[in-house]
Order: sequence, then structure tokens, then C-alpha cells
Amino acid sequence: MAKNNSKSAKAKSAVKSTLQFNTSWSYAPAPESADHVKLQSSYDLFIDGKFTAPAKGKYFDTLNPATEKKLASVAEATTEDVDLAVQSARRAYDKVWSKMPAKERGKYIFRIARILQERAREFSVLESMDGGKPIRESRTIDIPLAAAHFFYYAGWADKLEYAVAGNRPVRALGVAGQIIPWNFPLLMAAWKIAPALAAGNTVVLKPAETTPLTALKLAEIFQQADLPPGVVNIVTGAGATGAAIVQHPGIDKIAFTGSTDIGKGIQKALVGRDTKLTLELGGKSANIIFEDAALDQAVEGIINGIYFNQGHVCCAGSRLFVQESVAGMLIRKLQDRMQTLIVGDPLDKNTDIGAINSRPQLEKIEEYLKIGVKEGAELFQTKCEIPKKGFWVRPTLFTNVAQSHRISQEEIFGPVLTMQTFRTVEEVVEKANNTPYGLAAGVWTDKGSKVFSVSSQLRAGVVWANTYNKFDPTAPFGGYKESGKGREGGLHGLLPYLEVA
Ligand code: ADP
Repeated sequence: MAKNNSKSAKAKSAVKSTLQFNTSWSYAPAPESADHVKLQSSYDLFIDGKFTAPAKGKYFDTLNPATEKKLASVAEATTEDVDLAVQSARRAYDKVWSKMPAKERGKYIFRIARILQERAREFSVLESMDGGKPIRESRTIDIPLAAAHFFYYAGWADKLEYAVAGNRPVRALGVAGQIIPWNFPLLMAAWKIAPALAAGNTVVLKPAETTPLTALKLAEIFQQADLPPGVVNIVTGAGATGAAIVQHPGIDKIAFTGSTDIGKGIQKALVGRDTKLTLELGGKSANIIFEDAALDQAVEGIINGIYFNQGHVCCAGSRLFVQESVAGMLIRKLQDRMQTLIVGDPLDKNTDIGAINSRPQLEKIEEYLKIGVKEGAELFQTKCEIPKKGFWVRPTLFTNVAQSHRISQEEIFGPVLTMQTFRTVEEVVEKANNTPYGLAAGVWTDKGSKVFSVSSQLRAGVVWANTYNKFDPTAPFGGYKESGKGREGGLHGLLPYLEVA
């Protein structure tokens, strides 16, 4: 009897604790814990399959932008280290990777994808700690999409003969130098490494100096997957390390994602050399709302378009164009929705907008806020609380914006939206195209015919209809004009790593 009693007491307490757990989960989710990541105090370069100290012994700090605390020291690669990495990639290309049957190469890439999926939580937490992005985004977008790119391109490895029209034979280029930015650190690494390997190239990759940790953790996966040494090398450092990759004569192709100015510099540096180049640069993309659009959905699309990843998105819908007849209503709805956005701890599952990636980026955004006000635009910022330490910007909307204002012409790369109104299709197409950039655009309307006619007139590499910021490994991504050249993603993203033999 006593035994039974204690059994039922136990059962009751189990029910209670389950209920308590569920209650706390559904109403106040605990922040993800940094315990999911084993951080080292310092990280070396990944060259020839091993973690290797930098030749000059120099290290720099990487910070958590939400706390301003140092996370780790990271090796700074000089020209000597870059040279070792390129030599290793060349050896791996000549002796192993180019000789391996394509389906075997594919198996390695599949293996990388699977391990990344298994370790997704650890990568998500680290991505949010090092870069400041909300854990909800790194957990549901960055890391799963990175794995999806490896899965997608793994499938191409043994089907390259179908990549070009007429089934003409293709071959790899050799050693690819890849330089990536800080806004989607692991995802950009996957965008670059996966097609390069599938096409049969070897790689020297440099992550951005403020977010090197997930790329270095990816190197652990390469070891775990037994990827042959030298097939991917990861060299950390700042602009000088990137420049050393660009200048190295042993590099056959440069793939760069970053600012337009640096991209133009790389283009100049490669003049007269037989190095292939793809560039994915800045943007100032138009998000266009017609009066017949479903306005509540459009508001969600506007929010996602500009406040996703703190607005650190090259294709961010940073210029909002609203048809005049619905502008008043849309502004009210948008401002109400903006007030609900939570800015704060990137590891908190409730957070909508995390930390600005670095102090220099914070200063740049703050400067643009001042410029906008000085230019005569009207500034609206939400009243949400922000933490005392760390780098933060409240969601911001500028109305009363003119086409000539710097805030509507220049890339801010922060949670700052400019809004203009329009009356006719001709007017909005002209305004939307009146920019040095041409990366992306959004069109919101109830009419399919309007989607087609407007999107075909927009000079933008990607046009989303009744949605925004949707990414898929099968879809090409890239820009016109100062937004770059070449495409990443899909078959189009594979071709720049291949030569028709
Ligand atoms: P952002 O303005 O977004 O920081 P950058 O273009 O400065 O973008 O940086 C993108 C990447 O390019 C980073 O990895 C950075 O270290 C690298 N980089 C910066 N300067 C150079 C350069 N002169 N040559 C090659 N890479 C560079």
C-alpha cells in the first residue's frame, strides 16, 4: 500500500514537473546556453588538415557584440601563412581531389552536410554569440540553410557533365580563394565551399575578422568527415589577409562577398591576370507595396525585409515604396508592428533583433541616423528597451524621404528603413531602378500580371513576389551594376567554378 502511494505521488510529481516545464517553455523560453559550445581560448589557422600556429605568432580578439566581452583569440594569417595554405590546396588538388572519382567527392560533401545537421545547435549558439544574430534566426535559417547547400551541391558532384548545355566536358579551375563577410558567417562559407568542392576545386577561405569562429568550427567537421588534408584551408585575419589571397599567383579563382569598395579594389588587383572572379557586393533594394496588396502580410514582409539579421543583409529591403492611396494606413500598421519587436540578448528565443555586429558598424549606422535627420527626413524609432552593454540600434523608419537623400541612396547595413510614396507603376519602377545597386527587390500586389510586368522592369538580380528574403540552395542569387557579378546558388552558382574543357 505504502509502495502504491509513493508510486502515485511520484506519478503526480512527474505530471506536475512536466506541466511546469511546459508552462515555462511556452511563456518564458529560457535563453540558449553558451554551455552548448566548447570555446577554446585561442584558435589557430586550419592549413593542410591541421590547426597550425601563424608564422608571425600574431592573434586578434573576437568579441561577443551583445556583451562586448572577448570570446577568444584568433590567429592572424600573414602572406607566409596564406602561401602555405595555397600550396596545401594546390597539392591536394593535384594529388588527391582532382584524381578522386566524382562520386567519392560527393560522399565527402554529403558527410559534411550530415555532421553539420547533427551539430546544428552548437553552431547556432556559436553563430549568435560571435555575430550577434538572434538564435531563432541562426537555428532556423543560417545553420539549416548552410547544411542544405552542402546537401544540394553534393548531388552535383557526379553529374557535372549535365551542368552545361550540350553535355560538353567540364573541369575544375584548381584552387579557389574565397573571402566572406560577417553577416552570415557560416552560411556564406557554405555558399562558397560547397559548389567549389562539388566542381572539384580545392579552397583557401578567409572568414571576416569579427566572425571567424563558426568557419573554424566547420574545420573541425572537415576533420571529423576525414576530408583529405588541404582540400579546404581556413585562414583568419582582416583585410591584409584577404589581400594576400587576392595577390597570390597560385589562386585560380577569387570569390568575394563584401562591400562594393573592396570588391572594386579586388577587380582592379586582378586586371591582367588569368584569375576568374565572382563578386557579391552591396545593395539598396526596393520593397514595393501596391494598393491592392494584402497589407497585413505586406507589413510582415517589410519587417522581415529590413529587420531580419539587424538589417545586416546585402539584399535587405531597405527602400520601401508605398502607393500613395494606402500610405497612411500602412505607416500606422507598420509602426504598430515595429513597436512589438524585441531588441536584445541574441541567445533569447524571444529576441527579434539582436546586436549590431561591431562597434564600427554601430557608429556607421548612428552616423546615417544623423545624416537622415539633417537631410530633412522624419525619424521614427520604437521605444523598446535595449541592454546597457553591447551594440544596439532600435528598429528605425524614416518617412518624408527624397530620392536624392543619402539615406535612400547609400547602403546603411542596419535596421533602418526609408519610405517613399508613389502613384503609378512607371514612377515606382523609375525610382526603384534609380540606384547604383541592383541586387534584389520585392513586389506586393494581388495581381499576378502586375507581378510579372513590374518584376521584368526591375533591374535586380532577385525579385520576390508577396514575400521577401526567401533563400533556397537551388535558386541563383546575385546582382547587377554595383551589386556584383556572377551568381551563387543553384546551377548558376556551380558554373563559375567550372571550365568548359
Ligand atoms: P564590410 O564593410 O561588410 O565589413 P568588407 O568588404 O570590408 O565588408 O569585408 C568583407 C571581407 O573582405 C572580410 O573578410 C574582410 O576581411 C575582407 N577584406 C577587407 N579588405 C580586403 C582587401 N583589401 N582585400 C581582400 N579582402 C578584404
